[in-house]
Amino acid sequence: MHELSMADAMVKTVLDVAEKNNATEIIEVTIEVGKLTMLNPEQLKFLLDVLVENTLLEGSKINIEEVSVEIKCNACDYVGSANMEGSDHYLAIIKCPKCSGRDVEITAGRECNVKKIRIEQDDDLESDDPVNDNGN
Ligand SMILES: [Zn+2]
Repeated sequence: MHELSMADAMVKTVLDVAEKNNATEIIEVTIEVGKLTMLNPEQLKFLLDVLVENTLLEGSKINIEEVSVEIKCNACDYVGSANMEGSDHYLAIIKCPKCSGRDVEITAGRECNVKKIRIEQDDDLESDDPVNDNGN
């Protein structure tokens, strides 16, 4: 399953970053998923919920942002959203909305990245209350 390997890779990436930054807690993670990845965001979310069990990511807020497909047309120089008419979950048909050409460069929509990670760090062990800053 496509979604499973992607979800697995994302969890590993986030945990890796968290570890390198001495995170004690992962508050929030934002994941960018381009429409051309053919990943089903709902299924991805479900798998992530399962994969984060017993990791630092358990209980973190996970946001999935869909990135729409953008193109640059080689025929008419159109730049912007693609015409995806006729596409489905298995096959992406990408056309220029201006000239209907298919000689296009895809500039967005293939992303599948961890865009943002908010962590709680281990560098201030004196107090876990951020408001209390006169602790000496
Ligand atoms: Zn065009």
